[in-house]
Amino acid sequence: MRVSPSDGEVFETEYPVVIIGGGACGLTAALTLRDAGLPALVLEQDAAPAGSTALSSGFIPACGTRWQRARDVDDNVEMMAGDIQGKAENLADPAIVDLCCERSGPTLEWLADSHNIPFVLVEGFLYTGQRRARMHAVPERTGAALMARLLGAAETAGVDILCGAEVRELYAEPDGRINGVGYTRPDGGEERVGCRALVLACNGFGGNAEMVHRHIPEIAEAEYFGHAGNRGHAVQWGRALGAEIKHLGAYQGHASVAVPHGILITWAVMREGGIQVNSNGKRFADESRGYSEHAVDVLRQPGGVVWNIYDTRIHELAMEFEDYRQAEATGAVKITEDVAALAGALGVPEATLSETLADVRSLAEDRFGRDLSAATKLMPPYYAVKVGAALFHTQGGLAIDTSAQVLRKEGGRLPNLFAGGGAACGVSGPEVWGYSSGNGLLTAVMLGRVAGESAARLIS
Ligand SMILES: Cc1cc2nc3c(=O)[nH]c(=O)nc-3n(C[C@H](O)[C@H](O)[C@H](O)COP(=O)(O)OP(=O)(O)OC[C@H]3O[C@@H](n4cnc5c(N)ncnc54)[C@H](O)[C@@H]3O)c2cc1C
Repeated sequence: MRVSPSDGEVFETEYPVVIIGGGACGLTAALTLRDAGLPALVLEQDAAPAGSTALSSGFIPACGTRWQRARDVDDNVEMMAGDIQGKAENLADPAIVDLCCERSGPTLEWLADSHNIPFVLVEGFLYTGQRRARMHAVPERTGAALMARLLGAAETAGVDILCGAEVRELYAEPDGRINGVGYTRPDGGEERVGCRALVLACNGFGGNAEMVHRHIPEIAEAEYFGHAGNRGHAVQWGRALGAEIKHLGAYQGHASVAVPHGILITWAVMREGGIQVNSNGKRFADESRGYSEHAVDVLRQPGGVVWNIYDTRIHELAMEFEDYRQAEATGAVKITEDVAALAGALGVPEATLSETLADVRSLAEDRFGRDLSAATKLMPPYYAVKVGAALFHTQGGLAIDTSAQVLRKEGGRLPNLFAGGGAACGVSGPEVWGYSSGNGLLTAVMLGRVAGESAARLIS
């Protein structure tokens, strides 16, 4: 990935704004440009746009929405921003947190009203640190459906999406102004397009093993579940342009991916009172924390695998999630009558497992700091799924201002470069424990919207 001088370069074609990456961030930016009456070109390296967005659960946090009001959920920007900063211990950029929260409700309502993307409120449990039900999803409640709806909207709005276009080169003036980009076609051919503003919507570096080892070594041995094509290009170009790059140690891990099925088992299972035990039949950490930081503890257990244990009530709640239903259909969920059968099915020592379950039933607060009095006691029959840890996406990236414009390391802004989603520094602070559920799509959709608006303003 290179940045080359744009001096004397002649571009075969020209678009006012070019967007690199066709996930939630890139498509939201493109829809915004089309609403402003401007052409929008999305360059996507894959044969069809999907990105991590299509792999995700598709849950987008937003406050003050009409879907919340319809369910009497009283939420606002202060509470949502407070929850995000509470999880990040106030180490996320407050201006970007406030921006994403302020824009969250209006942006989802704009997608619904102007682009026919309907949303529902996800109810029934709260993620760690969230005081209100504020996860929104398209009715199918999957990232694949969210992506399909965004693509349908982009087609209707006349967004130009060029697939099979891997951008490798940016052409810039000495002050960092981008005048065009060069991309490689599947047959190896090289093409270029000129632009007056560029939006980086090409996500983070989860698909770049070298960067993962360097910046987040603690999770490097876990499987990466995001889009393999997200290889840190935004950070690489940003470095070459003198951009400020922040919080590369932050990421979304996950402590509950079914082994060997590779299917996400919703963390609602833990939030509702489930526990995790290792192959010795012992708990090892407080499961009521976020699934992201818990991933590191799961990875440290023997073999890097553990068991989720829960009961019928929790199983029925989990069946509302598409991926859990898939896990169930593929045989990942074991059901056993009592502790002895459970120990046999899991291959763990019965006496230890029995002690672990008895402790969970009798303790109000355990040695890991979990308040067990709040959880409904687990009752037989017991359900169990073997799970491992995963890396979902990285949260560090290019520092931006409240216009989603990329900041320079030395102060000031790069003249016409914008970033959002996983390409920009997120709202999780510097490390894994700061990730609040939904921070990924929050910054993809809201910063995509802001980047689109700012790019439109700049060139108009
Ligand atoms: C299993 C899983 C579940 C998740 N669930 C949730 C959830 O429920 N809620 C939530 O908030 N977050 C969730 N996330 C995180 C979320 O998916 C991401 O944060 C979000 O999709 C990022 O959107 P994006 O537009 O920045 O990137 P992407 O959707 O990944 O799009 C980036 C695009 O850029 C393209 N690209 C990259 N480099 C280039 C290049 N050089 N040239 C051309 N194209 C390029 C890629 O091919 C890709 O299509 C989940 C992640 C995973 C893996």
